Amino acid sequence: MTLSWSLECSSCGTTRSADGLPGVCDCGQPYLVRYACAPPPAAKSLLPERPWTMWRYREWLPLHDGEAPVTLGEGGTPLLAVVRVGERHGFADLWVKEEGANPTGSFKARGLAAAVTRATRAGARRFVVPTAGNAGVALAAYAARAGVAARVYAPASTPPTILRQIRSFDAELVLLDGHIGDCGKAARAYALESGALDVSTLREPYRIEGKKSLALELAEQLGWTLPHAIVYPTGGGTGLIGMWKGFDELVQAGWVRGSLPRMYSVQAAGCAPVVQAFRAGAPGCTPWPDPQTIASGLRVPSPLGDRLMLSVLRKSGGEALTVTDAQLAAAATELQTLEGIDASPEGGATLAGVLELKARGAVKPEERVVLFNTGAGWLYRG
Ligand SMILES: *Cc1c(COP(=O)(O)O)cnc(C)c1O
Repeated sequence: MTLSWSLECSSCGTTRSADGLPGVCDCGQPYLVRYACAPPPAAKSLLPERPWTMWRYREWLPLHDGEAPVTLGEGGTPLLAVVRVGERHGFADLWVKEEGANPTGSFKARGLAAAVTRATRAGARRFVVPTAGNAGVALAAYAARAGVAARVYAPASTPPTILRQIRSFDAELVLLDGHIGDCGKAARAYALESGALDVSTLREPYRIEGKKSLALELAEQLGWTLPHAIVYPTGGGTGLIGMWKGFDELVQAGWVRGSLPRMYSVQAAGCAPVVQAFRAGAPGCTPWPDPQTIASGLRVPSPLGDRLMLSVLRKSGGEALTVTDAQLAAAATELQTLEGIDASPEGGATLAGVLELKARGAVKPEERVVLFNTGAGWLYRG
C-alpha cells in the first residue's frame, strides 16, 4: 500500500517510505512523519460532528481514508481554568490540560494508540517497551485492545499501582534494578531475539504523531488561538516534540496565526539532563548519573530526543528549569486540594515550574499559560 506520508530523519534529513515497521534512521536518530499535503480547509467544518477523541483530527494523523484506529477513546481531555490557584499566585489566565482523563490515566495513551494502530496494520503481533511507568500501562492496554502480545521492562522502583495496572492488562512485566535507560537496553535485546516491535520513545515515528494531537486539541479548545506559554514536565520528550510539530503544521495549514507559544521544560532536580544541556548551550544531553525523583515519568537520564527537545526550547524562546521533589509534591497537593484536579507528581512539577518562571519575570501575570497534568495522581498512590 502506498502511504500518503513518508519519513524524514530528524538529523541527517534522509527520507524513506513509511512502508513496513520503521525504526530509527541508519544514523541512529529518530524519523519524523512528513505528509504529502496539509489537511484541507474543509477538514475544519467536519469537526463539529465528530466525537471528542484525538481521532477527530484524523486528516492530521497517520490514518488512511476509511481506516479504523486501535482506540480506547484517547484525547478530548478537558482544558480547565484554574482560577483559585491562579489568584493565589497572581496569574490572570492560567489553565491545566487534564491528561489524567485519558484511558490508562496518562497522556501516553495518545502516542501508543497511534503506534499500535500503525504497527498492527503493518503486521506486528508482538510489542515491547521500556518504561518509567505510564508508557507500559498504555502499551499493555492498547495491545490487549488490538489482540496482540506486549512485554514491558520497568524499574523495580516504579510506583506499585502502575505496575499492577500493567499486569492487569495481561502484559508480561519484567522488573529491573535500574532506570529506564537500563530497561531500554533489555527491551532492544528482547526485540532482536524475539522479533517484537520496540515502541520506545522516538524509536518508531508514530508516538510523536499521537502526541501531536495535544497541539491540535489545545488550539481548538482555545478557539484556534495559541497560549503565550506552555509548561511541560519533560522526560523522553514526546510531548514537547509532538506538540511543537503540531503547532508548526497548524501554522503551515493556516489554521492558527500569530506567534507560537514559548515552550518551557520542567525537570526534577534529581534528573535534569535537558536543563543541564540547555544552560550549557549544548546541542545534546550528557547522560545524568544516578537519576532520582518521585516523578517517575521524569526519570529519563539520557533521552534519545535530546537534540529535538533542545531545538524546540530554543526556537520557541522558552527554556528548561528544575524543581525539587518537595516543590513538585507541594504543587501537586495544591492542584488536588484547591482545584480538585487529581495531579500526578509530574503535573505538580508544571505548577512548581511556572511559579519559578513568574518569580524570575520570564512569565508575566497576564499571560495565557497552559500547564499539563500529564497523568492521574491515583497511579502514584497505594
Ligand atoms: C512519560 C511521562 C512524562 C514525560 O513525558 P515526555 O513527553 O516523554 O517527555 C511526564 N509525565 C508523565 C505522567 C509521564 O507518564
